Amino acid sequence: MPTAKTLFDAIVIGSGIGGLVTATQLAAKGAKVLVLESYLIPGGSAGYFDREGYRFDVGASMIFGFGTQGTTNLLTKALEAVNVSLETIPDPVQIHYHLPNDLKVKVHRDYEKFLQELTTCFPHEKQGIRQFYDECWNVFNCLNRMDLLSLEEPRYLTRVFFQHPLACLGLVKYLPQNVGDVARKYIKDPLLLKFIDIDCYIWSVVPADLTPMINAGMVFSDRHYGGINYPKGGVGQIAQKLVDGLEKAGGEIKYQARVTKIVTENNRAIGVQLASGEVYRAKRIVSNSTRWDTFEKLLPKAEMPASEKKWQQRYQKSPSFLNMHLGVKAQLLPVGTECHHILVEDWDKMDETIFVSIPTLLDPDLAPEGHHIIHTFTPSWVEDWQKLSQGEYEQKKEAAAGKIIKRLEQIFPGLDAALDYMEVGTPRTHRRFLNRQDGTYGPIPRRKLMGLLGMPFNRTSIPGLYCVGDSTFPGQGLNAVAFSGFACAHRVAVDLGL
Ligand SMILES: Cc1cc2nc3c(=O)[nH]c(=O)nc-3n(C[C@H](O)[C@H](O)[C@H](O)COP(=O)(O)OP(=O)(O)OC[C@H]3O[C@@H](n4cnc5c(N)ncnc54)[C@H](O)[C@@H]3O)c2cc1C
Repeated sequence: MPTAKTLFDAIVIGSGIGGLVTATQLAAKGAKVLVLESYLIPGGSAGYFDREGYRFDVGASMIFGFGTQGTTNLLTKALEAVNVSLETIPDPVQIHYHLPNDLKVKVHRDYEKFLQELTTCFPHEKQGIRQFYDECWNVFNCLNRMDLLSLEEPRYLTRVFFQHPLACLGLVKYLPQNVGDVARKYIKDPLLLKFIDIDCYIWSVVPADLTPMINAGMVFSDRHYGGINYPKGGVGQIAQKLVDGLEKAGGEIKYQARVTKIVTENNRAIGVQLASGEVYRAKRIVSNSTRWDTFEKLLPKAEMPASEKKWQQRYQKSPSFLNMHLGVKAQLLPVGTECHHILVEDWDKMDETIFVSIPTLLDPDLAPEGHHIIHTFTPSWVEDWQKLSQGEYEQKKEAAAGKIIKRLEQIFPGLDAALDYMEVGTPRTHRRFLNRQDGTYGPIPRRKLMGLLGMPFNRTSIPGLYCVGDSTFPGQGLNAVAFSGFACAHRVAVDLGL
């Protein structure tokens, strides 16, 4: 094996938001940190790319965690910790839903306005609607009282319990619960329960029955509390700023540095090896790669720890997405069009949901003058894109894109004629550029589980190795992986004695 270079306190494999929050938190505590990223820029699923005057977000665009108060504004806090900041633009409506039978609902930033809008559609459920969403606030209010750090650190847990006993007991109550059970306590109308399903599905990619109540408490309340805020300059700015902060705090990041192996000695993780053959050593190794990639590719699959096998029995990979990055003439969009849309034509085909984001309605500088960006995507499995010749692959992409545009004409009539630029990505694109097995969006329960209790934290069965990101507690989404990053850095710092 080639000889290792400098000994770091921590090496982070990957510069997704989970990895960068871990790295910046550790650097801010004085640790010597190295981040190794296989791509050319940081951010992973929260990255960007430039084409013909457009700046497209790779994935995430509906951003939670940029609030100014409480403890759940983790993106704000992560940036502040390394003395950087980011201008954000508030979005007045989280989502404009376009649902079967012409049901249209806007989720307003203003909570009362949202309840009123939903109640207008379901007047007979007025009380149930308020009771259900108010119960989500109970979860949020518990979370928003305490510093969100590692639940694997007993001294922190004891301190938090004595500072906030009621909030802690509240969370313990909700940890094993799923949204569906709570919703059915208050709501009877099957159509309204379908609405709750899609209100979960758009971020958890599973219906309410499989969606943990803790995550729903965050999403359903923070959208009205901290709100949805778009970073000026595009989502890629979050990672760029975190990297600025990391470097200011003395940390290092290397791009085009693909880790191919986690090096172990006596079953302890002690370093990493890159595709180039270089080896770096550290006291602690943090993988921001998915758990599947970490335990099947970076470590020998045949030696997978029992705990990981168990996790894989509980959770499976969610589908990836068919992604379309469009540039359109501005006249397409009437005044008053919202930034985020969800289109579902058939309640039995929620897995064909179309997601739409038009970030240029908030930040026009991301497109050439007189144009907008439409980023649209729908769930898609990698298996459907395998074993195709190049010609067949291109044809299939074109056909799939044509279908999506036709469906979107229902909400944006004239879309096809207004197209100025189009780029289509498949699960294969996600797998390649985001380095995620099968291009997956992340873990989803295989069956109904007890809320979030089955999600692993940051420590792994291999001493010295930690995981961070969306395949650790509490799951997908930028603010969620930031939580995972805070927790991971906290646990690693305690283990390093910092
Ligand atoms: C289409 C789409 C839309 C989304 N929309 C939203 C949204 O609106 N709001 C929201 O909050 N969330 C959204 N998400 C989810 C959110 O983007 C992710 O949950 C989050 O970004 C995942 O962060 P992460 O830290 O787990 O890692 P990732 O983003 O997966 O980053 C991991 C990084 O590690 C690098 N890496 C992996 N393996 C190696 C290796 N071996 N060597 C070196 N580097 C490696 C990768 O290149 C990558 O940069 C969306 C995701 C997608 C795909």
